[in-house]
Amino acid sequence: MTGIDREFIEQVAADLVRINSVNPTLSEGGPGEREIAAYTADLMDRLGLEVGEHEPEPGRVSVTGRLRGTGGGRSLMLNAHYDTVGVEGMTDPFSGVIRDGKLYGRGAYDMKGSLAACLGAARALRTLGDRLAGDVVIAAVADEEDASLGTRDLVERIRVDGAIVTEPTALDLCVAHKGFVWAELTVRGRAAHGSKPELGLDANVRMARLLARVGTLIDELAARPPHPLVGPPSMHVARLEGGSGLSTYAAECVAALERRTIPGETAEQVLQEIETVMEEARRADPSLRVTLEHLLTREPFATSPDGPLARAVLAALEIARGRPAAVVGDTPWMDAAILAAHGVETVVCGPAGTGAHAAEEWVDLDSVERLAATLVLAARDYCA
Ligand SMILES: [Zn+2]
Repeated sequence: MTGIDREFIEQVAADLVRINSVNPTLSEGGPGEREIAAYTADLMDRLGLEVGEHEPEPGRVSVTGRLRGTGGGRSLMLNAHYDTVGVEGMTDPFSGVIRDGKLYGRGAYDMKGSLAACLGAARALRTLGDRLAGDVVIAAVADEEDASLGTRDLVERIRVDGAIVTEPTALDLCVAHKGFVWAELTVRGRAAHGSKPELGLDANVRMARLLARVGTLIDELAARPPHPLVGPPSMHVARLEGGSGLSTYAAECVAALERRTIPGETAEQVLQEIETVMEEARRADPSLRVTLEHLLTREPFATSPDGPLARAVLAALEIARGRPAAVVGDTPWMDAAILAAHGVETVVCGPAGTGAHAAEEWVDLDSVERLAATLVLAARDYCA
């Protein structure tokens, strides 16, 4: 009914795992996406898609394959990143071995199995000769694991109405994820010989007092009303560095903070909360000199489960799984937020498996096949 070729999908997924595409800005020596892009572009070409290659930075290549519609319908992007994290601690990361219906290796689950499902869906739509009104665009994107160069580049050049980001969800429909804000607190003291307390100003002790207040804020975040799908916001002190030698008063102490945001929260609010804590600490100790530097924001993501794409995917999942799918949220940040911020109706739906970023990683091939069927059915509905 959906024309999915299981053998094709398994072969493509295994081929993709066997190509090392470790993200070079995350892991030294990672080759990036050039080789996997060549494989993907060639395959898309053989499937009869209109192929585009996009290289916003040297070696960081995304590939798109467009299945052109007859015109007038909604267009849909099927998005999968094909860079991976590093392979430390893995025994055979590029084996692509299949055992008991599972495909093993780095990226099998996160998320080359998903890309294989997208390509399998495109192949089925071609083979069945379906003429959808809207275009379907397969987007195999670079660099999601680090700076999302791939999707950030594509949203500027490719307009679509809807997007399914195929990050693994065990065939449930994910409509929300957290965002994050990175920031750094710097407390300045004054270096002096350890024997001369009248000259020194201890940045480390002042940071400790400040962090006690940050800890109170962290406790308060945990007690806030949780988002129904992703839970409450949180913050942690990820890194702490201060001082030089034992006989020297610490001249500077830096604390790196990561604040995980929930849908509805903005970076401005988050930074203002931290500023308020700093202000209270300054009032308690006028000798405190502290600054806050904002390093990076990745927005949270939330969309309505009642939108046309969400409803199309839910209906397709029910057919492909044989029972209704759950509407869920997830905690890690994804490219979904970038697409949604550009006005694209975006949902997340992907296969089952385990081991993203872990020493053993596998994807369940049955779920990859069902994902491909879901994508075909959803495209037929949404792009009709
Ligand atoms: Zn991923």
